[in-house]
Amino acid sequence: MEKYDIHDTTEDELGYSLRPESLSEFIGQDQAKEQLRIHIEAAKTRGDVIEHVLLVGPPGLGKTTLAKIISNEFGTNFKQAIGTIMERLDLATTLTNLEKGDILFIDEIHRIKVNVQESLYPVLEDYVLDLSIGQGPGSDVVQVGVSEFTLVGATTREGLLAGPFRARFGIHIHLDYYEPEDIQQAIRINSGKLNIQIDEDAEYALALRSRGTMRTANKLLANVRDYAEVKSEGVLTLEVVEEALEFFGIDERGLDSQDYAYFQSLIEKFKGRAGLKALAVALSEDEITIREVYEPHYIKEGFIMLTPSGRVATDTAYKYFGYTTHSQPSLFDNHLS
Ligand code: ADP
Repeated sequence: MEKYDIHDTTEDELGYSLRPESLSEFIGQDQAKEQLRIHIEAAKTRGDVIEHVLLVGPPGLGKTTLAKIISNEFGTNFKQAIGTIMERLDLATTLTNLEKGDILFIDEIHRIKVNVQESLYPVLEDYVLDLSIGQGPGSDVVQVGVSEFTLVGATTREGLLAGPFRARFGIHIHLDYYEPEDIQQAIRINSGKLNIQIDEDAEYALALRSRGTMRTANKLLANVRDYAEVKSEGVLTLEVVEEALEFFGIDERGLDSQDYAYFQSLIEKFKGRAGLKALAVALSEDEITIREVYEPHYIKEGFIMLTPSGRVATDTAYKYFGYTTHSQPSLFDNHLS
């Protein structure tokens, strides 16, 4: 079978977004939604700015979407920054341009440098920013006021935030992988938005292969739609969906050639146990992507365990990938060839 990269056409190339714009359009995650609804209502009733929010969960579950929804609910500006590229100076410029009630969203907030995190403490508590003026012995620190805003931080790894930093978020919200029924509902709604005709069993088949993740569901839908436009009359029946997924190299649990390569390395090359670094080199992939994007799903599926001596492939993984004993390869050859 040839391999094709599933690409994300849903937000970039289609030129518009499938993002829900209000809490009532946001599917599933009932606990998280209820928590947010209460905090939003309370802040509105008091006429206050909502407390700083920390959104925790794997990629593609709706953290950015929820941050945008908060700003929609208050009718304030939404500004976005990414944790990896924040320098103190960028931060100062961003902060001093905020207006009252604005939402500042920082994705991957656990990657913010320690000195930047620390410079945020007085900002988050008292809305003042310490700015250094000049350099060397003549330098001075001045305090600049910042408008009352809300920081919404998103992280896949809450444990990496320094305790005092984490404590400055008044609201902590955890997102979990979605049930197939929730994903099916999103697929139905998005098919409507994209003018895709899709059968109910085809929706469910896509939902089962979406790895509990809305972003993956949207990607699969867009790719399968492209396939159907070219290969059939455009209607997504179960048959067309299954044919398309096979064409794109997606198996019945939503695993693709990259996942198969991971388990081929772990099981064949490393005999079922490997460190993250070794796997990253073997797969030519960066460690963060493996740890934060791929592996949470494998853990949820019961395919690997994280132990002090590395990642260990479980019996479930051996069985799923066609190893009858801890040494016999099989399915990989078909899937990867
Ligand atoms: P994250 O920030 O957690 O990586 P995003 O908020 O960017 O995830 O969501 C990825 C995509 O999934 C978005 O395009 C959005 O349209 C969709 N999405 C996420 N959560 C939901 C949901 N609960 N209901 C419907 N669509 C959702």
